[in-house]
Amino acid sequence: MGQLYSITPFTQLDYPGELACIAWFSGCNLRCIYCHNPDIVLKRGQKDDAELLSFLESRRGRLTGVVFSGGEATFCPSLPDLARQAKEMGYKTKLDTNGTNPTMLRKLLEDGLIDSIALDYKCPPHLASRVIGDAQYVLPFQESLTYVIGERRAGKINLEIRTTCHADFLDTSDLQWIIDDLDSLEYSGVYWLQNIVTRGDKTLGNISPSHRTFDFKLLTHPKHFSLGFRNFPAQASARHSM
Ligand code: SF4
Repeated sequence: MGQLYSITPFTQLDYPGELACIAWFSGCNLRCIYCHNPDIVLKRGQKDDAELLSFLESRRGRLTGVVFSGGEATFCPSLPDLARQAKEMGYKTKLDTNGTNPTMLRKLLEDGLIDSIALDYKCPPHLASRVIGDAQYVLPFQESLTYVIGERRAGKINLEIRTTCHADFLDTSDLQWIIDDLDSLEYSGVYWLQNIVTRGDKTLGNISPSHRTFDFKLLTHPKHFSLGFRNFPAQASARHSM
């Protein structure tokens, strides 16, 4: 049995500009307190790689992209082969990643197997133990971050960097810390702040909705990139004067 957990047959949201499917891979090295995919993180895959390849073959001409997500897909040893075969079928490929496996990231990008990356910037280093469960992943993440920003600057990939925001675990100054870090690395593009929407879902840390809010008007304007806001009330994000 492979690490493939399930396949979402169609999405227009997860791969902008493409009609895509999502391949979800089981297992993850992190334990983010707000993770709303505990089954994918903690359980084992239920499908073989052949099932994904057969699905992609059957959707040729109807879908244009495939998203590799999870869990953390970069810890699936067969990911390069799956991405290669997807590209040979004509699909665009996107990877959703927590950025803690720079070795696999380099392999995928050096071999031209991934067109687009969505990278989660979880938190400033001093909060890693609390937010992602283990501070040892700070250095590999920073290696990945620097690498993928360089690849984007070289025009080799599309890149989106994003942070899931729960006001009990991050505050506005933590978001400012990340903005300053991205500016120092000359990230260009959009940095997305994503409000966590729990809707009572089970999370790894059994968290509840926060009653605190972010004060976005305190954020300074980034020099090299723009800010985007997802799932926040319009008036909350509008208070950030761009
Ligand atoms: S939210 Fe965290 S724990 Fe959940 S899959 Fe993503 S990186 Fe892993």
